[in-house]
Amino acid sequence: MNRIPEPVYEKDVATLVRYFRRAMHDIEVELMRMDLSDFRRANALAVQAQIREILKDLDANITAWASTTFPKAAQEGVARSIVSLGVAETFSEAMKIVKFNELNKSLIELAIADTQADLLQVTQNIDRRTRNAIRQAMADVMRENMAQGVNGVRSIRRDFLAEARRQLGDSLNTGIIDASNRRWKPTDYADMVTRTKLHTTYREAARNDAIDRGALYGVISSHGATDACRNWEGKVVKFVADAPGHYPYIGDLPRREIFHPRCRHHVSPIRRPDLA
Ligand SMILES: [Zn+2]
Repeated sequence: MNRIPEPVYEKDVATLVRYFRRAMHDIEVELMRMDLSDFRRANALAVQAQIREILKDLDANITAWASTTFPKAAQEGVARSIVSLGVAETFSEAMKIVKFNELNKSLIELAIADTQADLLQVTQNIDRRTRNAIRQAMADVMRENMAQGVNGVRSIRRDFLAEARRQLGDSLNTGIIDASNRRWKPTDYADMVTRTKLHTTYREAARNDAIDRGALYGVISSHGATDACRNWEGKVVKFVADAPGHYPYIGDLPRREIFHPRCRHHVSPIRRPDLA
C-alpha cells in the first residue's frame, strides 16, 4: 500500500494552546498589577475591561485557528481515503484533488462551531471567575480597612494583601469540569478538546469520502497502543450500519475503548473487507 502519513496535530494544538497561555499570562499580569489599596469601583472596572479585551482577542484567535485547521485535517482525511481506495497514487497527489462532499462540508462546519462553543465556555468561565475574584478582593480590602478604622492604606497588613493577591491568581487556575466530571486546567482542556476534535475530523472525513465512493468498510490503524484501543488495532469496521457482513459498525464501538478523548487511531477505507 502507498505510504500515507499519520495525522499529526502537535504543532496545530501547540499554537492554540499558546494563544491560551499568552492570554492567561496577560490576565495574570493585569490581576497582579491591580492596586489593591485603591478599592474604588473604577479601579476594578478598569481591570475587568482589560481582561475582557484580552479574552476577546483570544476568542478571535480561536476562531481564526479553527477556520483554517479543521479544513486542513478534513483534507488530510479525505486524501487518506483517496489513496487507500486507489483513486490517486500518492498522498501529495491526493491532497491536490481533494473535494469536500456535502457530508464533509457540514462535518467541518460543525467541528469549527463545536470548538468555538467549547472554548468559549472556557473563556467565559475565566471572565466570570476573575470578575468574582476582583469583586471579592475589593470587598475584603474595604472590610479590612474599616475594621482597622484607618484612613492610611499603608496600614493594611502585608499578609492580608498577599492573600488577596493569591486568591486573584487562583481564580485563573480553577478549571473546567467536563461531561465526565473531570476537572481540567484551561490550557489542558483546550489541548484535549482540540486534539480530540482534529483526530475525529480526520477520521470522519475519510469515512464520509469513502462512503461517497461506495467503500463501506475500513481498517483501524495500528501504532502499538497500550491502552484499551490496542484490542481494536487492525480490526475491520463498517462505515454504515446496514453494510453486509459481520463487522462491527464504527458508530457502535465502545468509546471507552476506542476513539476516546485524545485517541490518535484512524481508519483506512477499503472496498472489500474479506481482503483486509
Ligand atoms: Zn486510540
